[in-house]
Amino acid sequence: METTAQQSFSKSLVWLVVGFAVGLFSLSLYALPAAQLNITFLLFILLTVGVGSRLLIEIPQASAYVSASDAFVFLALFLFDAEGAIFLAAVAFLCASFYGHRQGTRRLLYTSLLVVSVTLTAWTLRLCFGSMVELARSDRTLPLVVAICIMALVQTVFVSLFVPRSATQFASGSEGRKPVSHFFWTFTAYLVGASAAGLLAKLVGRVGDGPSIAVISLLVLAYLIASPFRKGASTSSSSNALTRVAVLPSTRSEERFRSAFDYAAIGMALVSKKGRWLQVNHSLCQLLGYSERELLATDFQAITHPEDRDNAMASIKELLKGNTPSQQMEKRYLHKEGHPVWVLWSASLAHEEQNGSAHLIFQIQDITDRKRAEQRLLHDVFHDALTGLPNRALFMDHLKLAAARAQRRDDQVFAVLFLDLDRFKIINDSLGHIVGDQLLVGIARRLEQHLRPGDTVARIGGDEFTILLEDLKGEDEAIQIADRIQKELSVPFSINKREVFTTVSIGIALSSTGYANAEDILRDADTAMYRAKSQGKARHVVFDKEMHAHAIDLLQLETDIRRAIGYQEFDIAYQPIVALDDFKLKGFEALVRWRHPLRGLISPANFIPVAEEMGLIIKIDQWVLRKACIQMRQWQELFPSDPPLSISVNLSGKAFAQPDLIEQVKSVLEDTGIDPRGLKLEITESVVMENIETTTALLWKLRELGIRLSIDDFGTGYSSLSYLHRFPIDTLKIDRSFISRMIDNNENKEIVRTIVMLAKNLGMDVVAEGVETKEQLEHLRRLECENGQGYLFSKPMVMKAAEKIISDTYATKTAASTKPKENGSGQKRYVVYSKPGKGESGLAKSLGLSRPTSRSVMLYNPAVGENGKPKSK
Ligand code: C2E
Ligand code: CA
Ligand code: CA
Repeated sequence: METTAQQSFSKSLVWLVVGFAVGLFSLSLYALPAAQLNITFLLFILLTVGVGSRLLIEIPQASAYVSASDAFVFLALFLFDAEGAIFLAAVAFLCASFYGHRQGTRRLLYTSLLVVSVTLTAWTLRLCFGSMVELARSDRTLPLVVAICIMALVQTVFVSLFVPRSATQFASGSEGRKPVSHFFWTFTAYLVGASAAGLLAKLVGRVGDGPSIAVISLLVLAYLIASPFRKGASTSSSSNALTRVAVLPSTRSEERFRSAFDYAAIGMALVSKKGRWLQVNHSLCQLLGYSERELLATDFQAITHPEDRDNAMASIKELLKGNTPSQQMEKRYLHKEGHPVWVLWSASLAHEEQNGSAHLIFQIQDITDRKRAEQRLLHDVFHDALTGLPNRALFMDHLKLAAARAQRRDDQVFAVLFLDLDRFKIINDSLGHIVGDQLLVGIARRLEQHLRPGDTVARIGGDEFTILLEDLKGEDEAIQIADRIQKELSVPFSINKREVFTTVSIGIALSSTGYANAEDILRDADTAMYRAKSQGKARHVVFDKEMHAHAIDLLQLETDIRRAIGYQEFDIAYQPIVALDDFKLKGFEALVRWRHPLRGLISPANFIPVAEEMGLIIKIDQWVLRKACIQMRQWQELFPSDPPLSISVNLSGKAFAQPDLIEQVKSVLEDTGIDPRGLKLEITESVVMENIETTTALLWKLRELGIRLSIDDFGTGYSSLSYLHRFPIDTLKIDRSFISRMIDNNENKEIVRTIVMLAKNLGMDVVAEGVETKEQLEHLRRLECENGQGYLFSKPMVMKAAEKIISDTYATKTAASTKPKENGSGQKRYVVYSKPGKGESGLAKSLGLSRPTSRSVMLYNPAVGENGKPKSK
């Protein structure tokens, strides 16, 4: 590091040298005879600048160069004497140094030093031998030889001492030692140049004067001095090397660089601007599997992976334009054996200090392992771990591309198939998850095998697969493929030496329906799949406009349900449950009602499935449970009885599956103060049977709260009768489909009989749902079915109407006969419902089952709406 004092000293010294040179130059210019400035002299100068500077001769052992212009200056000394030579040197060196990359001061310093050196040589010779022109023309050989030696020596000494070092180094006087051999070779080079100049000058003296001879002699001289070293000359890089008269530094730092290059752990290379490898290190050869010779015979583009060539080329161009100092990219080379090798490639531009030419330096680091890990990771992100198929994310990606292509081209039809296995859950539950998993893998493989190469098959959920079919001719082709898939998958799978059968439901959405985005296509394929399921599974359904409208409705419905919860648009209707032997009111079933502000009353059958799918049913059920309990608690207080009146509340599968269900029910019981015996939870058969172990435990816990449990829609699910006795169930509700077709269908009759008997044996009671006719009622009574619910007795009704019935019942409780009445057939019946002032009418009477009192009330009155008022027609 130099101090500022040293720096300013260096600067002054530089200017001192420059000033000195200018002085010397002015002196020689002053002394230059005017006659000298003839056409020959001018031509000579031009040739020196034009030709001499372009001829650079390498001195191999010294890693040094000697420029031909030095020899031209010597020749000028013999032809035009000291002043001419000094003038030529100054002009030629200055001109040439402008080609170079040196900064202004340095350029001036170099030129000045050379002018000083030439002046020193010329004056020394003049001192010793007088005029050089005379000497060359005379016959004095020995003095000429001595003069030539002095020329070479002075020049060598001077140049070796000062010129090759940087201006600051020179000025600060720090001395780098040069090997003797270097000195020797520099001297030899100068000696050859000077000798050739002397010889030519003698020749010119013999033959006579004249511009042509001077020019010819110059060319001959150029040839002479060039030839001995021609081999080592690097003409390509010598374009502006005049001022680099002496030496490329062969310093220790260069050696250090060299060994760092050779033994670097990463690949390194020196590359020409055109892309040829000039030097490559061992690591690079190893990385690419080539020997050094093989590699040097190629260029870097030839072994770059074709897909990366353009990018690499663009990077190099940027570098060469000087837009960036370096470039870096991850790219692939091709190993000699053909496989790609991932590398981190850095390239920078290196200007040669001395001649300003540029090379590229490449650093090439093997990152194949990292890339592999990255690719693995990327694969995992976009693929399903179990089957290895693309996952939803990747599928959507492909789908988006297909949609974009289809928008550009009308003739591009594609389809999305949405597959869902039928009853996969049952397979999973009965045969175990391992078999379930193997089945999914088996299905994945079959799907892959039977699709066309361009199609994408993905697993996007548990047992859901999607297929993207591209380039279709039309709807028919998609249907054919769906057919084929269904056939293929219906062949049993052999898993753990067991044959497993499965079927799929497929929804098909076609691009020709006109989609703007990919999500919509998938959604519609999904909707069509649901339609296929609801139509009986193991089939395919093509999505159509009507379904689309339906889907939109559903979407609207979902939004509306969310709002309805907040705005309290829900209400409860109460449907009486009646003892069939005496028509005594046992309680009510609470049925949710939705009073939509625009659409009016919406049937639960229409919104409960949607709410279930959206998970909103949990909120609805919680609300109904609490509200119904509050109501029943009031009624229990107003009309106490033993056992108390009961309220049945429906619980969906989703609500039943909540982890904190017990706590919720408990808090409702506590908050409302309802007699727990008066609350009955209705759970459908399929929910109970779904997960027997956990369900059993849960049912027992609910039962421990003192409430009752009832299995809804009994007979429709897959009840395993052997399990039934394990559940703490109080009531079986026979599904209304059996009741409605009981009269003319013997099978249904038998089912009802069996359920009634089964319940009796298990100590449960039975409610027949959907009792609509006298025949049904009569038959149920014959089967000794205990309870009934249905339009025959009453439709679900509003709270006020329900309360009226209770009050009528209990107000007349004492008045009404509690004694059994004969009905002629010897059976004892009770008429408990009374309605003041309506005379003897009503169900019991019409059925001839009992003799109603004057206040009998008929619950069966289809003409009465839920609000208890007559229905308007
Ligand atoms: P469900 O639990 O089987 O309820 C009985 C359904 O049968 C009620 O329909 C009722 O009005 C109807 N019904 C009663 N007697 C007769 C009859 O004689 N003939 C005919 N054809 N139908 C009769 P609703 O109120 O439309 O409810 C339909 C279904 O919606 C219910 O079937 C139940 O599964 C569900 N649901 C109703 N309220 C709720 C609720 O608060 N929570 C849950 N999770 N589901 C509810
Ligand atoms: Ca029910
Ligand atoms: Ca039911």
